[in-house]
Amino acid sequence: MLKRPRTPRRSRRTADVDELLRLAAGLAASCTRAEDEFWQEALAEVVGNLLADGEEDTLNAALDGLAQADGEAWNELANEIETACESTQLSVDGQPWQVVLVAAPLLSWSRYAIPSGALGASLLQTLRVQLGAHVLAHNVKFAMIDYLFSPDQLPQGFSPTYQLLQELAPLAPQNGTLSLAGLALPETTPFLSDVRYVLLAVAAPLGSPLFRWQEEDGERREAEQQWQKQGASALTPVFAGCAMEALLPQAYFAAWRSADRAARAYSVRATVAFLQLTLNLEARQISAAIAACHKHKLEEYRIGFMLDRGNEVVHGVVWPLLDGEDEHTDCLADIETVLRECGVSDITVHDHTFPTDYCDDCGSPFFPNADGELLHTEPPPEAQEQPQQHLH
Ligand SMILES: [Zn+2]
Repeated sequence: MLKRPRTPRRSRRTADVDELLRLAAGLAASCTRAEDEFWQEALAEVVGNLLADGEEDTLNAALDGLAQADGEAWNELANEIETACESTQLSVDGQPWQVVLVAAPLLSWSRYAIPSGALGASLLQTLRVQLGAHVLAHNVKFAMIDYLFSPDQLPQGFSPTYQLLQELAPLAPQNGTLSLAGLALPETTPFLSDVRYVLLAVAAPLGSPLFRWQEEDGERREAEQQWQKQGASALTPVFAGCAMEALLPQAYFAAWRSADRAARAYSVRATVAFLQLTLNLEARQISAAIAACHKHKLEEYRIGFMLDRGNEVVHGVVWPLLDGEDEHTDCLADIETVLRECGVSDITVHDHTFPTDYCDDCGSPFFPNADGELLHTEPPPEAQEQPQQHLH
């Protein structure tokens, strides 16, 4: 499913939209590899040109046009757009090379600020060694970006993602570094738990393996475990005062999607751990209430945390629906499982629907208590996160 970046709406080229719809429908209806390739090539060319021109809105208009009408064509177009954003080809000494944008997601929580921003040269070198040893195939070349990205700082849209890879890819055959350290990227919104990303572009001759697990003696699970151990320990100095868990580095959109998924349970666990640590409590003193919040349809679940069976909500976690999920997805079972694993067994699941209400003053979401009221969080003084105190 598509991981759609947030993006502003601009112009809309009708003829291009029609052409995208025609090619995506052709590809969706095709049932043999030779015909697939014909449509894919034609679609790749139109998509590539639109990305290069920054015609974000045209791509989104075509996706919107297909969203209700033709699910299969929507998938084909979405795949093609993601592929065109995260992969490209280069000529190296006259040979065709493939280059893929890769993201290494890191889950973290802290009562203080989670780091983001410039990565120093020696740390970058250590990461390069760890990525090369555990995650990437032996003979690849790769370029890194000297920046630890928060979600707000990632390229916001298909075209900016495409542009970033176009900048990074030519540096890959020389194992280069793209320096963004001097750029003023957007401020990071502080949260108790969040995701950070290290980005790289991996290059190899066309047809050669890019990742360790594509090699005969490689394995995805082993790569992930080694990276979690070694890669994470290389990053420990940066994440001082934070808990941190590394996820498997993967192609950009897949990594982003798996981080979004993992971040939901992680933020529940982070909240329970945070409350226990800062308030010196046991998990059984914490209770939780879960509300299904709707705008026009189900948007997200909100989990309110209370202490000693009180009515005040001391902390909250938003569990967003991900692409492809709806009211029929059993998110509630997942949420309850995570809570119980954390030792929280006093759980109220409200069976009516709630609005997606936010505080007018600070914009933070309201969370349910056991009585079914949606409330502003009121953390006890000891459990206020340093970076985001909203006292009003
Ligand atoms: Zn507020």
